[in-house]
Amino acid sequence: MKIGILGYGNLGRGVECAIKQNPDMELAAVFTRRAPETVSILTEGATVCSVNDVEQWKDKIDVMILCGGSATDLPEQTPKYAEMFNVIDSFDTHARIPEHFANVDAAAKKNGHVGIISVGWDPGMFSLNRMYANAILPEGRDYTFWGKGVSQGHSDAIRRVEGVKDGKQYTIPVEAALEAVRNGENPELTTRQKHTRECFVVLEDGADPVKVEETIKNMPNYFADYDTTVHFISEEELKANHSGIPHGGFVIRSGKTGWNLENNHVIEYSLKLDSNPEFTSCVIVAYARAAYRLYKEGQSGCKTVFDIAPAYLSAKDGAELRKSLL
Ligand code: NDP
Repeated sequence: MKIGILGYGNLGRGVECAIKQNPDMELAAVFTRRAPETVSILTEGATVCSVNDVEQWKDKIDVMILCGGSATDLPEQTPKYAEMFNVIDSFDTHARIPEHFANVDAAAKKNGHVGIISVGWDPGMFSLNRMYANAILPEGRDYTFWGKGVSQGHSDAIRRVEGVKDGKQYTIPVEAALEAVRNGENPELTTRQKHTRECFVVLEDGADPVKVEETIKNMPNYFADYDTTVHFISEEELKANHSGIPHGGFVIRSGKTGWNLENNHVIEYSLKLDSNPEFTSCVIVAYARAAYRLYKEGQSGCKTVFDIAPAYLSAKDGAELRKSLL
């Protein structure tokens, strides 16, 4: 399978790494909106091209992996490139997924392509586990906890506060809430009871720490509804201890069965990721394999993780899977 990467940020680099671990795949080219000579990649034999030249690659790429940002890139890029290629993206603005699905579906069907959207861990593997658990235990309750991990959006919000030079924000699940859910207590949890937020902040010279801390803690939508801790640290400390992009979380469904609902069951799926973009990329690459297989079967249109049978993700064939993993 020949793979193209469009957009070379954290995810683009992660996909390049993931391809290296999948012998049935090969990176053909990376496409960027920046000047190609300013972007250097690691794969020998692959080239960096301008997105403006992407049409010339129509017959040379089996699946184009779109690694742009969800806020403004993907709503435009995924439908556009689904007309030319089989595509896959990691669109994570949950509320806008139905609209994005409709746009990609119409575009992909024009020329018989497959587009798989919202692939990664959330949306992605977490969605799949929520769905399996709901189908299996109709009588029950869902819980999703995120972290401990870096929230890009909240880190950006801190950096926009006056007096802040740099900053990182970690989302942390509340241990007591997790335990209550795991014990099958089915608790009703408020936003504040589920997660706390921890910020590491480097101040500009002369900035007032009290004012910065208050501004962060009272920021509506981002921090006001949470118990937030702010630590002031040096630039060196931030670089040494907080430059990674870890994340993870827990999807739990607790349900009841039995004629009088006398038995409890708890399904839990958890992730602990050193690198959010590298893990997300591994999921995307497995689904890229599925996209190509579906295309070869003559299918077209937009799909999500819900629509793809698990065997389509694996490099192993059915007989091998039945023997080794069933
Ligand atoms: P980045 O900000 O690292 O990259 C986004 C785009 O920015 C790149 O594709 C690149 O496009 C462009 N860019 C511009 N200048 C630079 C530069 N100097 N260095 C690097 N890139 C640059 O975002 P991520 O890769 O971290 O994430 C992409 C999206 O993935 C996120 O918006 C998020 O929504 C989604 N995501 C989804 C997850 C899931 O579980 N579903 C999990 C993690 C992320 P170009 O090369 O064209 O300039």
